[in-house]
Amino acid sequence: MDKRSQNKIKKINDLLVERFGVPPRNKKLPDPVEMTVGTILSQNTNDNNSYKAFQNLKKKFKIWNDVANASLNDIEKEIKVAGLGKQKAAAIKNFLNGLLEREKKISLNFIKKIDEFPAIEELTSFKGIGVKTASCVLLFSLGRNICPVDTHVFRTVNRIGIVKASDRDKTFFLLNENFPEGIAHSFHTNLIRLGREICKPKNPSCGVCPLKKICNYEEKNLDNKKSTSEKSFMLLDNI
Ligand code: SF4
Repeated sequence: MDKRSQNKIKKINDLLVERFGVPPRNKKLPDPVEMTVGTILSQNTNDNNSYKAFQNLKKKFKIWNDVANASLNDIEKEIKVAGLGKQKAAAIKNFLNGLLEREKKISLNFIKKIDEFPAIEELTSFKGIGVKTASCVLLFSLGRNICPVDTHVFRTVNRIGIVKASDRDKTFFLLNENFPEGIAHSFHTNLIRLGREICKPKNPSCGVCPLKKICNYEEKNLDNKKSTSEKSFMLLDNI
C-alpha cells in the first residue's frame, strides 16, 4: 500500500472516530483458541446464536481436549443453534486435533512469535479456518495491527476506493500491506458500524455519511439522508 492510501486510511479513521467514537476494547484479550472456536461458530449467524453455541460447548465439554476427543455428532448437537453444525463441528475438531498433533497441547502460543502474514498462513493451514477467522484471532486475541475483512469491510473499502479487489481475501491482503500503525481495531470496528448503519448493500445513505467527501463510489446516493444508527451493532454478527 502506498503512502497516499495509508494517509486515506488515517483520514477515514479520524472521520469515523469523530462520528462513532473510539470503539471500546477489552483490557484482557480473549484466549486465541477460544477466539478461533468462537469465530468459527459466528460464521453466517448472529452473535446471540454463536454465543449460545459456544456456551453449550463449554458447558458440555469443560476442556478443549474433551472436544477434540468427542465425536462429530456430539459436537454438532451442542452447536446446532449456530447453524452449519456439521461443517462447524468438523472445523473445530480438526483445529483442536491439529494443535494437539503439532504442539502436543491445545495452545496457540506459537503464533505470538510469528509475523502477521505468516501467522495467517499458519492458521489457515487448519482445514476450516479461513483468512477472516485467522485475522480476527490476530486482531482481537493477539492485539495485532490487522484489519479483518468481513462483508461490510469488503463492501465499504471497495466503494470508498482504498482498494479494488474482487473478493474478501484479495481485499484483505491488499488492505493489510503496510496498514497504518495502531488503528486497525478502531478502523475495522467503526467501518463495520458504517456498513451496517449507513453504507448498506442497497441504497447507502451517502447524504449522512461522514466519508462522503473522500469516497470514490460512482453510485453515491446523496439524496438518501436516512440512517439506522439507532440499531445496535454486534461485533461478530455475520462476519
Ligand atoms: S459516501 Fe456512500 S458509498 Fe461512500 S462510504 Fe459513504 S455511504 Fe458508502
